[in-house]
Amino acid sequence: MSSSANNEEQYQSNIDGPKTPKRTPMACQFCRGRKLKCDGNKPSCGNCDRRGYPCNYTPVSATSPK
Ligand SMILES: [Zn+2]
Ligand SMILES: [Zn+2]
Repeated sequence: MSSSANNEEQYQSNIDGPKTPKRTPMACQFCRGRKLKCDGNKPSCGNCDRRGYPCNYTPVSATSPK
């Protein structure tokens, strides 16, 4: 009548859920287009700030038209 014998420490590791993408420094549109190193400053990164460009951060979408 022992049903729960070795059923104790098998429920510990439950960290195999959804894959979390690596945290990469987000580059703004301008830096991305020019392949510049964006410092990720907000609301305006260094490059945009220096040139007086509007800095836009857009989330990465699945499909990126080239
Ligand atoms: Zn930038
Ligand atoms: Zn920028």
